[in-house]
Amino acid sequence: MQDDELRFLEEQLAGTELLACVACGEDTLHAHLEVLEVYPVGTELLMHCTRCQTERKWMDWTPPTRQEQSN
Ligand SMILES: [Zn+2]
Repeated sequence: MQDDELRFLEEQLAGTELLACVACGEDTLHAHLEVLEVYPVGTELLMHCTRCQTERKWMDWTPPTRQEQSN
């Protein structure tokens, strides 16, 4: 894996999101647990409810920023 990809994944894992939790029945803070898949249009993440510890998949539709390198 390339360095910029690794850094991107680390940035994804660093944050938290306010998501609707089925188990809690309301919006709760979810921590990024794992990056499942990186698509051109976004990133699929495994999210972890910080209140009830339920895990869920979540699609982050922020496109990965890729720097075009021209040598
Ligand atoms: Zn929950």
